[in-house]
Amino acid sequence: MVTSFSDLPIRDDLRGKSPYGAPQAPVPVALNVNENTHPIPDEVVQDILGSVAKALKGANRYPDREFGELREALARYLGHGLSASNMWAANGSNEVLQQILQAFGGPGRTALGFSPTYSMYPLLAAGTATEWVSADRGPDFVITADHAARVVRERRPDVVILCAPNNPTGTPLGIDVIAAAYEASSGIVVVDEAYAEFMPDGSPSAVTLLPGRERLIVSRTMSKAFAFAGVRLGYLAADPAVADALRLVRLPYHLSALTQAAAVAALRHSDRMLATVRDIVRQRDRIAARLTELGYTVHDSGSNFVLFGGVQDPHATFLALKERGVLVRDVGVPHHLRVSAGTADETTVFLDAMEQLPVPLPR
Ligand SMILES: *Cc1c(COP(=O)(O)O)cnc(C)c1O
Repeated sequence: MVTSFSDLPIRDDLRGKSPYGAPQAPVPVALNVNENTHPIPDEVVQDILGSVAKALKGANRYPDREFGELREALARYLGHGLSASNMWAANGSNEVLQQILQAFGGPGRTALGFSPTYSMYPLLAAGTATEWVSADRGPDFVITADHAARVVRERRPDVVILCAPNNPTGTPLGIDVIAAAYEASSGIVVVDEAYAEFMPDGSPSAVTLLPGRERLIVSRTMSKAFAFAGVRLGYLAADPAVADALRLVRLPYHLSALTQAAAVAALRHSDRMLATVRDIVRQRDRIAARLTELGYTVHDSGSNFVLFGGVQDPHATFLALKERGVLVRDVGVPHHLRVSAGTADETTVFLDAMEQLPVPLPR
């Protein structure tokens, strides 16, 4: 008996949709999902293990539903005068975004983003029965304040999601654009800062815009710069009323005691956890420089990956790289591929492979 899910009595709005499915092929050089390819330092692993063991002893009880210690640690990490009441967390920022759409989107409501952007936004919208509205970007994937404000005023979305820097293009986003989108909107404005730690030092975070803007939410994650993708910890900073709203939709005890303990312990070592960021930025810039020399069009990136254009046949290049043990991402932008910055050695394997492949399209 072969049944497809579409044969089941599934919701009409989910029939025929495809799940998130970045390949998890075991290759020597995986540069396809923007992970931090540096492992967690051993001393930090030992300290995290101690905390997890302690939490495990008490795991016959439900965990702290309000994860107070973790929220305090997250507030301390972000600074800017934030306190635990401004913070919220879940199992990855994907769950944070899902909770935001559960509370502020939903049937009859819309969420708007500027495409190409993070492929999970439309899927999270679909899962919460929120209508996804896609707006365009300007040249080189940049969004200006005027454009953002005009689009938001015209489409009146209930939720605006701004990805800063943007995945899959790497494009940084000025906080003037965020402020303009907020002024133009009467709904929730989410700024997804998953890659904020890879921006140049001194770049202002949307967190600086929070005072006086109770509809603004800044989403962050420990998955990328913090090298903690496997633990699943995303969080947000916002007005305390936002956390009150999300308590209505989160599952009880959604953050396990082990996750809370691991995250609190890792945050005690944030300097060590973030020590690889500079090297990753160096490798990103190295990729950008070399691909430019090879004749590709490289888009400005404030993240840990590079989107490059001029690829004659992205799927063929994807397969040729995979044959050489390198996994990159075909993000569906015509003639483009995305590659995450790896360790120096991984980056060398990728760049050497690129040199052997067919030349790019003429600029
Ligand atoms: C990787 C990524 C995330 C992180 O997701 P987690 O669920 O926290 O692992 C969030 N937003 C964007 C744009 C990303 O690229």
